[in-house]
Amino acid sequence: MTGFLSEELIDRITERCDLVEIISQYLPLKKAGRNYKGLCPFHQERTPSFVVSPEKQIFHCFGCGVGGNVFSFLQKLEKISFPEAVRLAGEKVGISISLSGDEKETVKENLYQINEVVCRFFQEQLKKTPVALSYLERRKFNSETLKTFRIGYAPSSEVFLDFCRQKYLPGEKLREIGLIMPSSRGKGEYAYFRGRIIFPIFTLYGKICGFGGRVLDNSLPKYLNSSQSTIFDKGRHLYALSLSKEFIREEEEAILVEGYTDVLALYQGGIRNVVASLGTSLTTFQTRLLKRCSKEVYLAYDEDSAGVAATLRGIDLLLEADLGIKIISMPAGVDPAEVMIKQGKEAFALLKDQASPYVDYRIDLEISRKPKLGIREKIEVIHSIFPTLQKIPHALEFQDLIKKLAERLNIEEKLLRSEFRKLEKKEWTSDTPLQLISDPNKRVKKKERELLQLMLLGEETIELVRDRWGWDKFESEENRQIAREIIALWERKELSLPRLLNRLKEENLSFLVSSLSLRELFPDTVDKKNLTLEIIQSLKREIIERKRRECRQKIAEYEKQGDHKKVVLYCRQFDRLAREINFIEVGNEQED
Ligand SMILES: [Zn+2]
Repeated sequence: MTGFLSEELIDRITERCDLVEIISQYLPLKKAGRNYKGLCPFHQERTPSFVVSPEKQIFHCFGCGVGGNVFSFLQKLEKISFPEAVRLAGEKVGISISLSGDEKETVKENLYQINEVVCRFFQEQLKKTPVALSYLERRKFNSETLKTFRIGYAPSSEVFLDFCRQKYLPGEKLREIGLIMPSSRGKGEYAYFRGRIIFPIFTLYGKICGFGGRVLDNSLPKYLNSSQSTIFDKGRHLYALSLSKEFIREEEEAILVEGYTDVLALYQGGIRNVVASLGTSLTTFQTRLLKRCSKEVYLAYDEDSAGVAATLRGIDLLLEADLGIKIISMPAGVDPAEVMIKQGKEAFALLKDQASPYVDYRIDLEISRKPKLGIREKIEVIHSIFPTLQKIPHALEFQDLIKKLAERLNIEEKLLRSEFRKLEKKEWTSDTPLQLISDPNKRVKKKERELLQLMLLGEETIELVRDRWGWDKFESEENRQIAREIIALWERKELSLPRLLNRLKEENLSFLVSSLSLRELFPDTVDKKNLTLEIIQSLKREIIERKRRECRQKIAEYEKQGDHKKVVLYCRQFDRLAREINFIEVGNEQED
């Protein structure tokens, strides 16, 4: 899995790394008791919940749940693979490893080059295809715009495949970036984009990572995007950002539209700080891209579009990124491209001037959806606005909006605040006390977690768990994997937290371990041995109780069927289970 990186080498690097020092190279950390704290680099927050333990050499964010050791941190922050993170950490502590990682870059470069060749071909094809040209003319796009955005046309499958053969473009690469597909009717292959206007999609630095294609008529799907590949992930790009970033930076604001043609029309009309998301809802990655070059985002989405709800949820992300958001209201049934082309730049600028702040817009939208505004409807409005308001990073702005919402709903601010507090509590489910968890499976899972936590605290508890319980008895798959790894490392006398994290290759497992080891649930003074025994006992009780419930069900079933023999059999078993429970109650540790 880690290629030729030996575990010893990984351990050696782990030991040399000082996690606090390495993380400090990326963000400021402040000492807080035993640990260090800082603002999490993986989510937006106002108060630090990102904890680094110098003692344990792990980190965990109690806000978003990310956690792990030095490699997990570098992997996540630098967006690199595990071997690459090992290499980078090695570099930082003076252990150099020659990874053939550079090879990966050349592979990517090669794919970009293929896209470049194909893009030029599509551009040539457009010049030869009157029907496509006249479609673009009808939309009033001039040749300058077509050149800037490198608009092309994808011909028929045969023509495209011929071209690829002539240019010796390797089939497996073309398949990898989704330009050709295997035919569903047995043999052969076909071109993915056929008879479509092509919009190349650029990386931030102007390389072509994918394509979007639009049909000329009304056939479906209207738009088609390159599929996910080594070089293309549509959630990580914003269309036209490579062209518009300097204009966005200049104006300190960006205009976000839905489609390719909206971008072309605005850009052509002289509004150049424009980008489009390549799907209906925004991703955190895209908002981060925007945040890098602008302070304010104007949304000009088509209001009738079916995706409005999903879009709104996506926009909440912009709030989280602490970007100012305003909504440009488009006249019904008209998209930004039409406004620009039919009415001109001034008309669009006017709409932009009238844009309303996002939260105001949300409040209006929610209220306008209600035929009347009784108590019930008001509560519904509050509930649907709550997740949005929660994302507002500034207390003053939040206050202001609470006031506004109270006014709009004609209720007292005090009432509104208490309703919000209730909703906040509801969200806080992860730390519900055990006795309040009614689902027995969840209860078991939680107890197993407590056991893991104790195992992470001390060696004697590991021995107890191994001898009196066993890793294979952990019911939740993730808990079981962690318990197994802890016991295995401990038996080899190699247990340390960073090492454990290196062995757990899945992200969710390392997040869980870092969270369990940094969450201070038990005071230092607690008798760990006793507590471990208590939890094991209660797990045993849970399991017997479960068997008893099953027994009771069987008895009822067989009674209905009149199967007397079976009824007696299960009744005996039921009694036996009751005795077992009694054993546990008096603290007898006998196994069955
Ligand atoms: Zn976080």
